[in-house]
Amino acid sequence: MVSCECNSKQGSLTTTISENEEIEIFQISNRYYEQEHEELPQELFEGNARWVEQMHENDSLFFEKLTKGQNPNYLFIGCSDSRVPAEQILGLGAGDLFVHRNIANVVNLTDHSLNAVIQFAVENLKVKHIIVCGHYDCGGIKAALAPHDHGPLHSWLCEVKEVVDGNKAELSVINSKEKRMEKIVELNVIQQCKNVMKLNRVQKSWKKYGIPHIQGIVFDIKTGQLIDLEIKNSKLYDEIKESHDSEL
Ligand SMILES: [Zn+2]
Repeated sequence: MVSCECNSKQGSLTTTISENEEIEIFQISNRYYEQEHEELPQELFEGNARWVEQMHENDSLFFEKLTKGQNPNYLFIGCSDSRVPAEQILGLGAGDLFVHRNIANVVNLTDHSLNAVIQFAVENLKVKHIIVCGHYDCGGIKAALAPHDHGPLHSWLCEVKEVVDGNKAELSVINSKEKRMEKIVELNVIQQCKNVMKLNRVQKSWKKYGIPHIQGIVFDIKTGQLIDLEIKNSKLYDEIKESHDSEL
């Protein structure tokens, strides 16, 4: 016999479950679990087995080296889009890249997750480069320009909308819709690089040790190539220092 109590503002509700009902609930949940287990995609485990074998073939000490810890030179901040696999497009592998991804590669200063990632990357891993990587044909950028409300996605993409609003003059002279979208992708990356520089711990590290270097790149889905937006720390800093340098 199991007793369940639910308290609410309206009062206390007590229900009693019989032993037979308890057994039935257990059997239902167990069946559900078994069904779920059967539906686990085996292709992922098969893919993993092939990868493990390949890594052993390439380097018999590969996994032993991974157990020694990580020392990546790069923090990669990219879009969640499945067509932009961070390590692959940079020709890197396990242990080379510390990664954070979200929709439209936004650096939101109130994002605790990203702030924690940047703190760890700068203060513990002491990464030499923070790379903000956008990509053409970005669904997040398209969604930001759509007139209707996307719920939480809408508020997440406010940062991108501000990029568009802040660069109206430059964007208005681009006649091709595709080129205009590509320009927004690039401007968004530049803005997110500025946001990285606004972070106090990034500024402090850069002033004291000369790192991290903030880099802005765009992945061209059509060609697979990367475009360097030639971001410079000093230029970023000049643009944000008046409002985002606590030491001035
Ligand atoms: Zn995207």
